[in-house]
Amino acid sequence: MRAIGRDPLFIERGEGPWIHDVDGNRYVDYVCSWGPLIAGHAHPSVIAEILGAAARGTSFGAPTEGEVELAAEVVERVPSAEMVRMTSSGTEASMSAIRLARAATGRDPILKFAGAYHGHVDGLLAEAGSGLATQGIPSSPGVTKAQAADTIIVPWNDREAVEQALEERPPAAILCEPFPANMGLVPPAQGFLEFLREAADAAGALLIFDEVITGFRVSRGGAQERSGVTPDLTILGKVIGGGLPAAAYAGPRTFMEMVAPAGDVYQAGTLSGNPLAVAAGLATLHLLDDAAYLHLEQTTRALAQGLSSAAIEAGVPAKITWAPGLLTLFFTPSEIDDLAAVRGCDMNAHAAFCRAMLEHGIYLPPSQYEAWFPSLAHGPEQLDQTLEAAARSFAEMSG
Ligand SMILES: *Cc1c(COP(=O)(O)O)cnc(C)c1O
Repeated sequence: MRAIGRDPLFIERGEGPWIHDVDGNRYVDYVCSWGPLIAGHAHPSVIAEILGAAARGTSFGAPTEGEVELAAEVVERVPSAEMVRMTSSGTEASMSAIRLARAATGRDPILKFAGAYHGHVDGLLAEAGSGLATQGIPSSPGVTKAQAADTIIVPWNDREAVEQALEERPPAAILCEPFPANMGLVPPAQGFLEFLREAADAAGALLIFDEVITGFRVSRGGAQERSGVTPDLTILGKVIGGGLPAAAYAGPRTFMEMVAPAGDVYQAGTLSGNPLAVAAGLATLHLLDDAAYLHLEQTTRALAQGLSSAAIEAGVPAKITWAPGLLTLFFTPSEIDDLAAVRGCDMNAHAAFCRAMLEHGIYLPPSQYEAWFPSLAHGPEQLDQTLEAAARSFAEMSG
């Protein structure tokens, strides 16, 4: 909220597309816990499953049927997933997937993209997106030189930079968000994911898709299903926990069987796959059928088109990127294809817009480096209210 010159809202409760703050204001929520709440707040069937699970015991440190059901659901949906390992956060899942890639290749370096965020894994905090980008933190203190030295950073959508980096120092993995959404949504250029697949193969590196945001959101099987490009390992989080702490990494049996106890790559977690989080995740995935994805796509398209028209009408230079369930409104006349382009946006205009939208009852991610998260609970009423508020906010800014 500092990025838009406001104090944070303190939230009292949420229901469907709405949040209520402690001061008695109600907002249409486009943050939705930064992604997990694809079904909206306090969805009755998700809450019922959590309550039912809680009554049977919160954690056992032993397998449950729910974990197996959730893993089966992931395997059925996600093309690269043959075996699944649960963790409690996306950060842990990234950390573990990287460890596995290093073990599988015998190499240390990881190639990542400027503006991508993979959780607060020490070695990946350089040029990271999300909160670090918002707060202008180029790399976090507390990360050792050795950890930082194994991270290679290249600009997103830059084929030459990727080729050169791979040649100079063949990495264990190319790690990317297939539709990066932690510098705002910056989709891959035509053919870029296919290029990464081929480049990884040629360099003997694994391709890891961090689908913590895109998984179960941009389509049933995430960005890999949507793009047709299958990575070696996949990192999942957010939606898979339905608002409770759950995440996972997944891949083909050959890699996943390297993880202990089947293999000797160690990873563990006291609360990994705990029954509450698994129940919330499963209940959420059960809501995500073809009709749900159609709804999400239609809602996001209507939002993108409406916002675009409203910006043009008001003479505000803007670029909108979107994928089903994800959208960013960039305050710039330029094309957005990498972190440098996002940094060139008019941050004051973005801040003024967010403040105005709050006044009109719409809670947006208060950073140009984040995406909006419309949910299944966002319907025509919220769309109308949002577009009306946007038209007024644009007019107030330009006037
Ligand atoms: C949120 C996020 C993470 C980290 O997940 P946590 O559960 O917050 O640790 C990793 N990767 C991406 C792409 C994310 O958006």
